[in-house]
Parts: sequence; C-alpha cells; structure tokens
Amino acid sequence: MRKPLIAGNWKMNGSLALLETMSQTLSSARISSSVDVTIIPPFTLLMSAGKMLEGSDVELGAQTLHPEASGAYTGEVSASLLSECGVSHVLVGHSERRTLFNEDDQAVLVRVKAALDAGLIPILCVGETLEEREADQVETVVLGQVRTVMDALSQEQCSRLVIAYEPVWAIGTGRTATPEQAQQVHAMIRSWLSGKDPALGEGMRLLYGGSMKADNAADLLSQPDIDGGLIGGASLKPDDFIAICHAA
Ligand code: PGA
Repeated sequence: MRKPLIAGNWKMNGSLALLETMSQTLSSARISSSVDVTIIPPFTLLMSAGKMLEGSDVELGAQTLHPEASGAYTGEVSASLLSECGVSHVLVGHSERRTLFNEDDQAVLVRVKAALDAGLIPILCVGETLEEREADQVETVVLGQVRTVMDALSQEQCSRLVIAYEPVWAIGTGRTATPEQAQQVHAMIRSWLSGKDPALGEGMRLLYGGSMKADNAADLLSQPDIDGGLIGGASLKPDDFIAICHAA
C-alpha cells in the first residue's frame, strides 16, 4: 500500500506569521498517521520552519535547489544547505520553474540527481500545457518528462522519487482536472513505470496538483492511482490545507 502524501507548495507567498499559525494548526489537527504531510515554504522560512516542526510528524520541503554542492552561484541554494534546515523533500521541475526560469529536462535531471545524492526526496513535477492537451500530446509530453529523468537513474534512485502530475492549465487557474482526467494520466505514468520495473510501478507515489481544494480533494484522492496532492493556493489557508489532509 502506498502512503498518501499531501504537500503544500507556498510558492513566493506566506510569512513568518503564517508559518507560526500553520505549524500550530497542524500540530493540533490530529492528522492520521496514515498520511504524510509536507509543507514547502519559501527558502527564507525554512530554518524557522525546521525548528518549529522539530519532533512533529510534519515534514519540510523546499521549492527548488541548485545542482552544485557549493560555489560562486550568487542567490542559489544547494541541497546540503537545505538539509541543514531540516528539509527532507524538494520540488524539481515545477512548471513555474520550467517556464519562468527556463529549466529544461536536463536542468531538471541534474537537480533530481543532486537532491538524491544529498539524501533528499525529489518531488518531480510533470504536466502538459493546454495547447499540448488540445493537440493530443499528453502522453508524449508527460512520459517524455518522466522518462528523461527515470531513464538516467538507477532502480534504487528511482525508488526514492515522488512524481507530481500537474497539468499546467490547472495550476492556479481554479480549473481542476476532473478525477477521471487525472486518473487517466496517473494510470498512464504508473503503467510506464511498471513496464520499467513492476516494483517501481507498485510503490511510486503519484501526486496530483492543480487547483486541488478542500471541496474537490476527496474525489481526486479516491482515484486508484492518485496517492496524494501537491497543493498551491489552498495550502496557504490552514483550515483548507488540513481539510485536504483529512480527505487523504
Ligand atoms: P494550485 O498550485 O493548487 O494553486 O493550482 C499547484 C502547484 O503549482 O503546485
């Protein structure tokens, strides 16, 4: 059985005050131990978040990383610096990184490798744009993004990844994929993974992301191949985020 993971991607939002409220609300929420919960605030909040969440079951993620271990990369943050804050997970290849910061599949791959080398769990984000969906390219695009990374890793490395399917047209738009649309792509990814290695297909957690909210989470999460959610907007509202955690 795959344990569901609910991850809240704050993007460039939030504050120290929200972090305090969120960690207090989460700690009194009695979220089932059969669900993993991760919050992913901006870099500047990670050190404080690590201290606040110490001893709790809530884990901490970062939104990106630089692939080099150290050096003259002004403004960047390495995997080991993230680990020092108590970070265990890191998003790689979020569509905003791919489009706004020109991260192509190779840039995604080196970041996944750097995360794995440092013992972090990469959450590899994949997904098609609306144009690609309308041109019937969902399979080509999504499996292309998955394959570039997975085919360059060992089986053991692959087994440490989480994949998030986030149709770009559903991110921050209020337009959610229907549970059937999301399930279809998740099943396709899982079937590709199973073809590579049956244990990988069976064990890999596939999250859905894109306008997941308190009122649509249960339907999405009840799909057989959806093992959790990557939540943007709704992860900034403690009550909504907790409702999604309960729905898992
Ligand atoms: P959203 O963002 O929930 O606001 O659509 C999801 C994401 O970008 O991870």
